[in-house]
Amino acid sequence: MTETAPVVRFAPSPTGYLHVGNLRTAIINALFAEKTGGRFLLRLDDTDLARSREEYVEGIRRDLAWLGIRVDGETRQSARTDAYEAAFERLKAAGRVYPCYETSEELEMRRKIQLSRGLPPVYDRAALKLTEADRARLEAEGRRPHWRFKLETGARIAFNDLVQGPVSIDPASLSDPVVRREDGSWLYMLPSVIDDVDLGITHVVRGQDHLTNSGVQIQMFEALGADVPAFAHLALLSTRSGELSKRLGSAGVEHYKALGVEPLALIAYLARIGTSLPIEPVTDRQALVETFDWSTFNKANALFDEADLVALNTKILHHLEYDSVRDRLPAGMTAQDWALLRGNIDRLDDVAAVWQLITGPVEPVIEEADAEFIEAARAFLDALPWAEDIWKRWTDVLKERTGRKGKALFLPLRLALTGQPHGPEMGPLLARIGREAALERLGAPSHQKK
Ligand code: GLU
Repeated sequence: MTETAPVVRFAPSPTGYLHVGNLRTAIINALFAEKTGGRFLLRLDDTDLARSREEYVEGIRRDLAWLGIRVDGETRQSARTDAYEAAFERLKAAGRVYPCYETSEELEMRRKIQLSRGLPPVYDRAALKLTEADRARLEAEGRRPHWRFKLETGARIAFNDLVQGPVSIDPASLSDPVVRREDGSWLYMLPSVIDDVDLGITHVVRGQDHLTNSGVQIQMFEALGADVPAFAHLALLSTRSGELSKRLGSAGVEHYKALGVEPLALIAYLARIGTSLPIEPVTDRQALVETFDWSTFNKANALFDEADLVALNTKILHHLEYDSVRDRLPAGMTAQDWALLRGNIDRLDDVAAVWQLITGPVEPVIEEADAEFIEAARAFLDALPWAEDIWKRWTDVLKERTGRKGKALFLPLRLALTGQPHGPEMGPLLARIGREAALERLGAPSHQKK
């Protein structure tokens, strides 16, 4: 038997921008595809033409590109209606879809009656009992049918979910799903299956909210004579307060960009929450690809905490490779500079401020009590031959000549040279600041002072 490489799809509806829940689904699909040498397809679920917008399609593509997700192909449901029509005809011929004429008011009324009797509000299949003559009469009245998929209710639908484990759904507890509206338009459920068949999807990876849909869709795959893909239903996100906050539902890439979150940080965070693997500052996504494993995913909700994400982002920044940020660094900044400075920023935007420690201007801070010391320090620096190890030689001399040590020695020098009490390692920093600028920051030589 030959194992074919997995094919997965990420299937957002372009009725809005991606939020953190979809982003996580996209990332997990992508990591799985990368791990297995599979393909990642983008499927735009735009059957709801009234709410789908091109602006959102572009937003989705842009977000995936920002995350660095390679898209191996793209389809959209609005372009595939011929395929849906053909499959629909087959299902009709096989008696697996049937026309219904109830209005939504009638259905609502029946549901209320069922509920008041303590019965589950499952569609009663009244339309199946209509005769040819009944249907002709309804059509003559001007009614157009909507169509339901007829579930087989003889046995439970069982499958082994990659995250949820064994799942068993009783189809008798479900209403036959409406697959097509009166106006001929499609609902999500059946087109999704037809697409998955035609695109050769091997693994359907999506949120747990689709678990019951999978039961229905398995019957659709079977009714179409297709292989049923594997399923992985990801536990949903929750926040510390327990509730899925509104904000989380709307926070997308723009929100995280504004917080200074790097794509790698968002990926590292979303790949690991809700798994048994640690949330850690990886230096590249390969580490996430290599450790990707369905068996690490928890069934319980995944805790999302923005503060944890921001903290992870800072840690990741401190190890981020020059090559992955060089385009966004100030002109002239070298790999060595980045290595020296990156530990002093919380977000990449801060880099301009630390870069200024090298390039200036810097407002030196010289406490009155240290003025004489700094003056002497300047003279010693002026006298020493300049080299990479200047800081060491300079402070050794100062220690010996002034008796200062520790904080009393180092802090005034840092304050005078950078204007700040904390910052990058002084040795490489001084070497990079250079002789002229350092002397200038330490003040004019005393004989020039009044
Ligand atoms: N458009 C559906 C959604 O966003 C797709 C679900 C699926 O992955 O099949 O929920």
